Amino acid sequence: MNTEQRMVLFSVKMRASRKTLDGEEHISGAERIVRAEDVPALVRALAGRAQNHGKGRPDFINIRVEAVPESACLRLPALPVRALDCASPAEGLRLAADLLARVGVRDPRAVLALMGEAGGLRGAMLLDADSLERLEPDKKRGIRATLMDAAETEPEDAGAKNHYREAMTLAAKVANAPNILAEICISDDPDYVTGYVASRELGYVRIARMKASGSPEGGRIFLYRGPRTELAATLDFIERRPVLVERIPAAPGFDAPGASPTSGGAKKWAFLEERLERLSADGLRRRIRRMDSAPGPRVRCEGREVLLLASNDYLGLANDARVKARAAEALAAYGAGSGGARLTTGALGPHGELERRLASFKHAQAALLFNTGYMANVGVITALCGQGDVIFSDALNHASIIDGCRQSRAEIVVYRHNDMEDLESKARRHAGRRGLIVSDAVFSMDGDVVPLPELLRIADRYGMLSMIDEAHATGVLGATGRGVAEHFGLAAAPDVTVGTLSKALGSEGGFVCGNELLVEYLKNSARSFIFSTALSAAPVAAALEALDILCREPERVRRLRKNTALFCARLREEGVPARSASAIVPLPVGHEKKAVEAARELFDAGLYLSAIRYPTVARGAARLRAAVRADHAGDELAEAARRIALTLRQMRKKS
Ligand SMILES: *Cc1c(COP(=O)(O)O)cnc(C)c1O
Repeated sequence: MNTEQRMVLFSVKMRASRKTLDGEEHISGAERIVRAEDVPALVRALAGRAQNHGKGRPDFINIRVEAVPESACLRLPALPVRALDCASPAEGLRLAADLLARVGVRDPRAVLALMGEAGGLRGAMLLDADSLERLEPDKKRGIRATLMDAAETEPEDAGAKNHYREAMTLAAKVANAPNILAEICISDDPDYVTGYVASRELGYVRIARMKASGSPEGGRIFLYRGPRTELAATLDFIERRPVLVERIPAAPGFDAPGASPTSGGAKKWAFLEERLERLSADGLRRRIRRMDSAPGPRVRCEGREVLLLASNDYLGLANDARVKARAAEALAAYGAGSGGARLTTGALGPHGELERRLASFKHAQAALLFNTGYMANVGVITALCGQGDVIFSDALNHASIIDGCRQSRAEIVVYRHNDMEDLESKARRHAGRRGLIVSDAVFSMDGDVVPLPELLRIADRYGMLSMIDEAHATGVLGATGRGVAEHFGLAAAPDVTVGTLSKALGSEGGFVCGNELLVEYLKNSARSFIFSTALSAAPVAAALEALDILCREPERVRRLRKNTALFCARLREEGVPARSASAIVPLPVGHEKKAVEAARELFDAGLYLSAIRYPTVARGAARLRAAVRADHAGDELAEAARRIALTLRQMRKKS
């Protein structure tokens, strides 16, 4: 026996996971086979990597070091590799189905349909390629291909994640296992949208897009074709045979299917990838979290229970049993969809009923429903203003107001936030013109309130229309939640009030209140009303019930106010200057990346707050935004304030 054969290698495996209510959630894992002298550096590198994963901080890091005699290692050549480009996940899945068909899978679509289920396993799903029967001995865990590495890797990149090398290594091992027909894999890493199909016959075929960017969904399926009596040998090979994979080729670029590398294909989409990468680099890339329960004071989100400080369901009505029951009745009576626009297909009973109730709630003559608050703003502004008109718009108005202003082609005059002197001096300069003054009632990212009496006085003096967006004011401001006019004790209302059913009213949809002339005109000219299918009955009925509850139980509004005051007071005691006249508490951080980091840290600590960044707010004005609910318990809010203050202090120290 020569020294080479007697040399002992070590398999080093890392697994990081997070504690959840019902066990553990996998965060990241890695494995290498290295020489004894490289073990300590590798352990350090893997421990570091475990703590810096996009999915969050681990509660457990498990590192296992196991001796492997080199003589037991099977050396396998890497699979030949190629890459297929595609424009969309749908196209990527089609390419994958074609490849599976080519190696003899009879129903590739049925295999792909099981990817979601496979994604719930820690390991891979092992499927009979023909009957689609699941063959893993442990159906919860799946089977795990382990004890493998690239034969040649530079020691210095030992700890770095290399998706491609790891995938190539695993694919070569699995493709060479007895009776394995093919493998298909989609990464569960939200930032990694590629996948692959591999077999000895196909080689390793990378596919550019197999899921939406930011999606944590992924999965892995091994397809088996052979007698059941040989299954044990396959499992033994995949799970226990040490394998070193030799001569892994460089990762290829993506070619369009059937096209030469220079002819369009990948190139026409490259600008989007570049833009997304730039957003990531600036801390501006957005990711949607997966919510596993209805909105409430506490929710299940991405596998953990968190205190919800990131929803606009201020009064806890979205999941109220009475609201849901009324929606269910309407669904049964009127169907899932309304079937057409109001003007072409007609209005359902609940549409008119809700409009009458909203008008009376806001002390207006009439109201008109839109499908969202966004569409209400765009529809009203473009209907009222056009070329030659002038719109005075607060610098911090909501994006839907800004979009309405832009689409109207009127002249837009932006005045300093809540600065009525600035507004008046600008209005004076345009006196005599037809104009509209428009403002949020409660500013959605700052939580402060428009000085309505002053604004109405200026509108009156210069003969301008006034328009107020009460998205965050309805159900929040005023003793009975009627909004900003009640807040200031005004008898007069703005000329136009816009609102949404999707925040304190716990449903969805938008509305406009005003006089009968206005509403009649909007029915005839607001394009987002005319050219969009009417709301279905269920959300309309839900909003009707929510409005009834709000009127019968004004104590909900009082509880919301008390909770916000308590939360702000606790924050101030901890040295965070928090104040809010509404239910929105902005917590300035500054840099975009720090806001994201703070939000992630708090999420890991069980608090869900959103990180608000450009373009929602100005660059460098990133913040956490806490939205308080009437049904939060006082002690939960006090504890949350303490934890938030701690995180903000730590962030400040880091800068
Ligand atoms: C949320 C919001 C809107 C949009 O309402 P949707 O019903 O969600 O479309 C409009 N204006 C403001 C100020 C908002 O905060």
